[in-house]
Amino acid sequence: MTTHLKTKVVRGTGIGDGCAIGNLRFLHTSIAKTREKGMGIDGERARFLDAIEAVKRSISHLQKTAEEDIGADAAEIFAIHAMLLEDEDLLERIEASLGDGLSAEGAVEAASDALSGELAALDDPYLRARAADVRDVCSQLLSHLSGKNEAADENTSKPYILVAEDLTPSQTVGLDRSTLLGFVTFEGSPNSHTAILARAMGIPALVCTGEFSNLYDGTVALLDAASGSLTLSPSEEEQSAFATRCAKNAEMAQEREQKLHTLREMPAVTMGGHRVLMYANVGGEEEIDAALSQGADGIGLLRSEFLYLSLDRAPDEEQLYHSYRTVAERMQGRRVVIRTLDIGADKQVSYLTLPREENPALGLRGVRLCLRERTLFCEQIRAILRASAHGKVALMLPMIVSVEEVRACRELIAECMQALSLRGQDYDKDMEIGIMIETPAAAILCRELAAEVDFFSVGTNDLLQYTLAADRQNPHVAELCRTCREPVLRLVAAASDAIHERGGWIGICGELAADLSLTQRFCDMRVDELSVSAPYLLELRERVLACQ
Ligand code: PEP
Ligand code: MG
Repeated sequence: MTTHLKTKVVRGTGIGDGCAIGNLRFLHTSIAKTREKGMGIDGERARFLDAIEAVKRSISHLQKTAEEDIGADAAEIFAIHAMLLEDEDLLERIEASLGDGLSAEGAVEAASDALSGELAALDDPYLRARAADVRDVCSQLLSHLSGKNEAADENTSKPYILVAEDLTPSQTVGLDRSTLLGFVTFEGSPNSHTAILARAMGIPALVCTGEFSNLYDGTVALLDAASGSLTLSPSEEEQSAFATRCAKNAEMAQEREQKLHTLREMPAVTMGGHRVLMYANVGGEEEIDAALSQGADGIGLLRSEFLYLSLDRAPDEEQLYHSYRTVAERMQGRRVVIRTLDIGADKQVSYLTLPREENPALGLRGVRLCLRERTLFCEQIRAILRASAHGKVALMLPMIVSVEEVRACRELIAECMQALSLRGQDYDKDMEIGIMIETPAAAILCRELAAEVDFFSVGTNDLLQYTLAADRQNPHVAELCRTCREPVLRLVAAASDAIHERGGWIGICGELAADLSLTQRFCDMRVDELSVSAPYLLELRERVLACQ
């Protein structure tokens, strides 16, 4: 395939500074939106009918197995899914889009978005819950349709570079990391959760500003995050020159890492004597080894929603408790800050049927959602409290904008403590409770908020987006977030002063914490802790040691 297509270089914003060489693999959502030449109306209709039959067969098989294994009641969901595949409303919408010339994937995706959106907005809870079922069956149809893509099939077990219109955090956490060489997306920005995950995984990524078609699916590509370029279908000579350069970079990176490793145990104290705790941001227990190997003094941000995003139903208290307890025990007395569920905006789960919002980043997310979904919230709070009996655990609330929200959360925490006492279960009665400063409101109210909580951590990713009115997912304003940081730095400085006046402590866990050009400034602000993805910890420690 490589020899049929012209070499082409696409530009973008690189995430990380690594490079990768491998076959491209398009995610079906990308194929749906970028498909340039479908197979014509009849061809696309035939592909769709084929997909419908295949998914019906697969659902009927699943239904039978589930009835035998877990009983007829529990297998009911498959009957609902089978019925949906015959639903006139859904089929008519798809047929109309096919008639308009959309690809089968595009038609399914459009019908899924429209119908699930309408259902999610209804008052009837039964019908609202069907929104998730519509998305589920449509995603099975899309998987089948993309499964028909030969290039993607060929590459499934081989290492590959993933290309997607956008990757949601839940898609990203669900990826098999063992074969993933890099990401290329057309949406998103360096502050998006997908970019953050790419950094944590230590793999190169690129947010493309140029377009290319899915005809390149399966071809070899050279991904260079440092220069922000993707070379499609390169010549043999280009491939071998790039491979040599990548190998050399990897060698140099390894040498540097060995040197940095000698700093692991060294407390990060500036030359002027200010100690900064070096904490790690993690998505779950599987990242603890990496954090410890890079000398983390603690965990400054456990993004607890990643566990929720990786499942198809909400984890229960026991599952959460075991996960948090494992982290607390493995960190052996070092502080572990567990941020409570920050679902909403770009982080959506299908089992919570959230209302469709025009501006989800300004809508029901973080504590706003948790204060409405109290059963879900309290299960998590009890799990965090129980884990606090096994290590130094702290609880942190996201997206705070008012003192009242903190008080409402503290009331629930007190109720959860009482419930555990009644059950005779242990927890740390003095567990620290903190909040994130992710909104200008929280930064402005620090003085008042300091009377309510034990600590603060600045989420610069959201603080940038809300201060600059610049969507962190939107590549068109990514440059603004990169260059216009002064207003946010001043908010952090003022917050730090207000918090220190009241004897509190403040950390930074957004991506700016890892920006070495800002470390001196953060030290001047007397920030107490910096929390970054594990791969950035040692370089940051070295930088703090060199600060005044
Ligand atoms: C932030 O907003 O800076 C932050 C750390 O939280 P998240 O990136 O998960 O929104
Ligand atoms: Mg945030």
